[in-house]
Amino acid sequence: MTTPNAGGQPVLETGGDDVISGPLYAPGKRLFPQAAHGTFRNIKWAILVLALGVYYGLPFLRWNRGPGEPNQAVLVDIVHRRFYFFFIEIWPQELYYVAGLLILAALILFLMNAVAGRIWCGYLCPQTVWTDLFYAVERLVEGDARRQHQREAEGWTFNNILHTGYKHAVWLIIAWWTGGAWVLYFADAPTLVHQLATFQAPMVAWFTIAILTVLTYILAGFMREQVCIYMCPWPRIQAALTDEDALNVTYRYDRGEPRMSLKTGLAARSHGQAAGDCVDCNQCVAVCPTGVDIRHGSQLGCVQCGLCIDACDAVMQKIHRPRGLIAYDNENNIKRRMAGLPAVYRMIRPRTILYAVAIVLIGAVMLTRLLTRPSDGITVAHDRNPLYVIDADGSVRNAYTVQIVNEQGQPRELEFAVSGLKGAKVQVIGVVGDGPDFPIQVDADNTRDLRVLITGPLKEPPHASIPVTFSVTDPLQKSEMMATDNFKTP
Ligand code: SF4
Ligand code: SF4
Repeated sequence: MTTPNAGGQPVLETGGDDVISGPLYAPGKRLFPQAAHGTFRNIKWAILVLALGVYYGLPFLRWNRGPGEPNQAVLVDIVHRRFYFFFIEIWPQELYYVAGLLILAALILFLMNAVAGRIWCGYLCPQTVWTDLFYAVERLVEGDARRQHQREAEGWTFNNILHTGYKHAVWLIIAWWTGGAWVLYFADAPTLVHQLATFQAPMVAWFTIAILTVLTYILAGFMREQVCIYMCPWPRIQAALTDEDALNVTYRYDRGEPRMSLKTGLAARSHGQAAGDCVDCNQCVAVCPTGVDIRHGSQLGCVQCGLCIDACDAVMQKIHRPRGLIAYDNENNIKRRMAGLPAVYRMIRPRTILYAVAIVLIGAVMLTRLLTRPSDGITVAHDRNPLYVIDADGSVRNAYTVQIVNEQGQPRELEFAVSGLKGAKVQVIGVVGDGPDFPIQVDADNTRDLRVLITGPLKEPPHASIPVTFSVTDPLQKSEMMATDNFKTP
């Protein structure tokens, strides 16, 4: 079912009885959410400052990794195919760490959802953070929601053009800085800033900044809640993941209904009649960034930001009623209270335990692997086409590309050997030496690719796939790395 909200956007209803049907994609009106003040607004400000501070400042944080190594704490070095994150250095062959991080992030999101619904959306999502920032600029330049409504009614007066122009200029500067900060994660930040300031930055940097500037400007300045309601898949996913014990921003209708004006409510109570605490002031709707009326029940458009809680608490305080008419709660508790039972908050339940255990296990495995990973590596790729070549004398030749990884900060001389195929001749292209052990120089913190040809004896059995072992030994450090592949015959 759908219902149009205060801003004209239709929203999907999942609860409540007083639902009005309407088309899902009806044209909407622009929202002018009123500024909210209170605990949840303050939490959102704190998270906004922290998140933006980290985003804009992190590229300038230095981290000493020794000579010849980049000293930027967080850096995606595309040219050298490395990802640096403080003391962690991820190589291309270790991309499974990134996959592990993504799985961890998903599980943390599931856990957050199981505990308190869409708090990611309401507090941490970049769309929310930047939209909040753009709203703050809008209110600072054009005035509060009431003044903005007035400006819209006034039309394009000189004063309004001036203020609107000013607002868009500030928005564009923020959007440009957002794109600008992003590219600083892909190069040495101070150097790139200097290059940008002197117009010597590479074209790709300008191009990326331009795209991100436009995206930020459009998404945070114009599309705002539309992204949450129509574009983002997370509300749909979380609706499938949530359960009746998760805490969501909830209108406690057991306390609020029947709603009526303050005066009527006082009169009703004085005559011993039932009167809810909701005075129908609409403040909860006025502050909502997605235009939702939470009194209609849990809705797809609600990002769980808690601003309606702040607005309603302020009203309750003014009319001397207990705070918390809107609060993080759930339907179960409403029903329990209506039945005269105390509310129950079940944070620890099978679902949250399962997520927490999975997070701890995956985190522990990743950390252990990270701390114990070898500083060397060897990978072998057999030529796919052709799989083998028959030489003039009838012997069979297979070709391989072997990559040797030296993750240490010093150059190394390693011995390379191939075993497993009796009587085979091994050739390493471009390396001097013709014995079973070839000295291979690998630069510090670098890789070396070798072309290896193995020629098998004439009498190999047909259609054979014989395992061969490629090994690299460091005689000084007494370490050995091995990888296996197959020798194919016709
Ligand atoms: S702010 Fe509170 S009192 Fe006012 S309409 Fe919303 S729920 Fe009712
Ligand atoms: S209904 Fe309340 S919690 Fe939901 S988006 Fe609106 S203000 Fe935020």
